[in-house]
Amino acid sequence: MKKILVVGSINMDLVTICERAPKGGETLFGKEFLQIPGGKGANQAVAIGKLNGNVCMLGKVGSDSLGDTLLGSLKNNNVNIKHVEKVEGSSGIAKIIVEENGENRILVVPGANGKVDINFIERNIEIIENSDYIIAQLEIPVETVEFLFKKAKSLNKTTILNPAPGRILSREIIEYSDFIIPNESELELLTGLKTDSEDNIKKAGKVLLELGVKGLLVTMGSKGSLYMTKSESKFYPAYKVKALDTTAAGDSFIGGFATGLSKGLQIKDAINLGTKVAAISVTRRGAQTSLPTLDEVIAFKG
Ligand code: ATP
Repeated sequence: MKKILVVGSINMDLVTICERAPKGGETLFGKEFLQIPGGKGANQAVAIGKLNGNVCMLGKVGSDSLGDTLLGSLKNNNVNIKHVEKVEGSSGIAKIIVEENGENRILVVPGANGKVDINFIERNIEIIENSDYIIAQLEIPVETVEFLFKKAKSLNKTTILNPAPGRILSREIIEYSDFIIPNESELELLTGLKTDSEDNIKKAGKVLLELGVKGLLVTMGSKGSLYMTKSESKFYPAYKVKALDTTAAGDSFIGGFATGLSKGLQIKDAINLGTKVAAISVTRRGAQTSLPTLDEVIAFKG
């Protein structure tokens, strides 16, 4: 089995469930408070760990008590945390207010994730050399991702970019990415082109493929995903399930896809694995709490 390195954010999601969010200056009682490990990087690493992939996390947590909890969660889920550094200050957090009508308000404080800098990558070159697949998202500084991918490509590694949260990126990051996995709105931001129909997604995708991306995998929520290369495109419908909470749908999909590749599956089978993992995760609450084990995926009948 090939080795996967996830370089990215490690957050604690601080979730408050309430009837309605307070207005400025107002104090209300909430109904429930949950502390759920999250962060796109950590979610993807845990997704892979739970599928028995060989995964190592490269990132930072703070010196607060959340940092210890976050490290514990990664470790308990089969993720190698040898290269996660504890730094002075707060861990990354996402404060999430969920109203009874389902509306979310989210405030992210990057904390330690903002300190995942180029120097940190340079100090950890050995783990990059020892990995086969390098996955990154955009919840750490973007110049770090650009440096990481340039280095990874010079070492002949396979790079997978999840351009989330969506933003405009330099041409270089795109050129250094073997696979890019955006959702529709992230693809729109990346290319500046509309992605409101399959035809338009294909037109936007072509722009990235022309820049040298080998495979573009566009996720389309409950519809499914579209895989494109320069020579073909294929749609993979999502499983029909009763969705309860779609948090980390994209992360679980990417975790499943990358695990599939690392276990030698063909791309179509790796996408099918990602599609299954994501389908199970949307039927459960939370980020990491919703990610399935390999046994649960094997038992899933769709
Ligand atoms: P998030 O930001 O919530 O993690 P995302 O926008 O990155 O999600 P989506 O495109 O919503 O990612 O979903 C990723 C994949 O998960 C989809 O391609 C699909 O296979 C699966 N998926 C998402 N929503 C559903 C759903 N309601 N039912 C079944 N599968 C789903």
